[in-house]
Amino acid sequence: MPADDRLAREVAQRRTFAIISHPDAGKTTLTEKLLLFSGAVHEAGAVKSRKQAKQATSDWMKLEQERGISISSTVLHFAYAAPDRGPEGGWRFNLLDTPGHADFSEDTYRTLCAADAAVMVLDMAKGLEPQTLKLFRVCADRGLPIVTFVNKCDRPGMAPLELLDEITSEIGLEPVAQTWPVADGADFAGVIDRSSNELVRFDRTVHGATVGEEERIPVEKAQEAGGEAFGCPEDRFEAAFEELELLEVDQPELDREAFLAGRQTPVFFGSALANFGVRLLLEGFADLAPHPTPQPTVEPGEPRPIDEDFSGQVFKVQANMNPKHRDRVAFLRVNSGWFQRGGQATLARTGRQFPMKYAHQLFADDRETAETAVAGDIVGLVNASGLQPGDTLYAGKPVTFPPIPTFSPERFARIRNRDSSRYKQFRSALRQLDEEGVVQVLQHPELGEQEPILAGVGQLQFEVAKHRMTNEFGCTVELEPTPYELAREVSAEDAERVRDQRGTMVARDRHDRWLVLFANDFALRWAEQDFPDVTFHEMGMAR
Ligand code: GDP
Repeated sequence: MPADDRLAREVAQRRTFAIISHPDAGKTTLTEKLLLFSGAVHEAGAVKSRKQAKQATSDWMKLEQERGISISSTVLHFAYAAPDRGPEGGWRFNLLDTPGHADFSEDTYRTLCAADAAVMVLDMAKGLEPQTLKLFRVCADRGLPIVTFVNKCDRPGMAPLELLDEITSEIGLEPVAQTWPVADGADFAGVIDRSSNELVRFDRTVHGATVGEEERIPVEKAQEAGGEAFGCPEDRFEAAFEELELLEVDQPELDREAFLAGRQTPVFFGSALANFGVRLLLEGFADLAPHPTPQPTVEPGEPRPIDEDFSGQVFKVQANMNPKHRDRVAFLRVNSGWFQRGGQATLARTGRQFPMKYAHQLFADDRETAETAVAGDIVGLVNASGLQPGDTLYAGKPVTFPPIPTFSPERFARIRNRDSSRYKQFRSALRQLDEEGVVQVLQHPELGEQEPILAGVGQLQFEVAKHRMTNEFGCTVELEPTPYELAREVSAEDAERVRDQRGTMVARDRHDRWLVLFANDFALRWAEQDFPDVTFHEMGMAR
């Protein structure tokens, strides 16, 4: 087979995606079940225990130190083959981890930039929650197609029709139910697969830790048998089928183009815990989600064909928290060609050669050495100091991918150097952390480099910055939180005019953009009233 055919076949198998959700909606449980159903693990529990280990310690840094670097959580790799469906040889998934909780940071957003699609997990009782909305917006800005999974149907929840309405009204996506739950809570009797018109149930296994027997009952037969046969009161059982009829009339058909364009979201219902609906989600997602496609470029301007020479983009750089092992891992998404471990690539920003000797494809808790990878795959480059988020590596024809967007910061803290003999180190540490994307570093027009302001989206970013300044650069620093929670960009002239406004602060970032920081929406509206001819630009996504 010609090499290009093999490449095209490999790429057609790839699905690179992220799961977005609010904490506790069930992302970890679903991830485990996807691994379980794909056969990557035989018993659920591995992902969970890692999460618990993580939560059990209040000192995140200590944990990072103990186990070296937490690269394992960045991407999970698994394969799945369904009979009579999908590409030749089955699908190969790259599931990008987007931490929530205390780990939330700009890296969470950057990681979404490496995905081709997302699964949005909602808790059936809670619907769309704040963190889901935040992550959704980043996906929407990137034009990522989104598949929705409504989880926890085995608990009392919102009425499913109401949930679909909420998706329309809150995020403007047109939901198209692919499966439908039969009742919820203790009455939950399974999900109806609308494509085959079957009621799908699973034998319960202990804690759903293994895959039980799947039972598929044609809807007509299920209705003949009646709800009691499935432990569901008749009225609720009937109601589910009536809702389905309503959907047939009210709901549009799923249109793949509308899904890929981010206008429609296919919706799957289920219970990750009880395994219900997980295989339907996995197969439905795999069928619908796009394989990697040619990525847009800044240079030469045309999208980079998949079968062109190797190219890829760094979306995240993680420093080892252990001072004894100061290596960095750069996470690279391959965009074209064959990635070859040990090959040479050019770093577009500097024009210098970058050896890819130490490369790893990342699988669960192991660093599995990657010999080759194709578009959509994620590779960890070890010893990657000198790489920054957004960097392009290529072989052959030169290419530069567009920068990874910067994100509007929501937390700000002053940082002070407490050891005047190490002022030089203080400054160079901040410059490096800013370039690496650990935090954004802002300068106040008067205090300038004496008292910079750290900006980010999560507290963790500040902790990492402080830890590294202390342990890696030998600085003694003090962080002081500020009351600001919102940033807007203004022109240099406008920054000058606004700078004395009460309850705000102006500051400049390393790209010489001027930001105005506000304590809240109210302060922003106040400034807009006082300065009607100043435009306060929303910051954030692609620039
Ligand atoms: P994450 O924070 O989104 O990763 O959520 P987890 O997967 O850790 O789940 C949070 C809690 O919800 C845990 O106690 C899970 O056992 C529970 N949970 C997850 N999925 C389900 C489900 O389908 N049904 C029920 N009843 N509980 C669930």
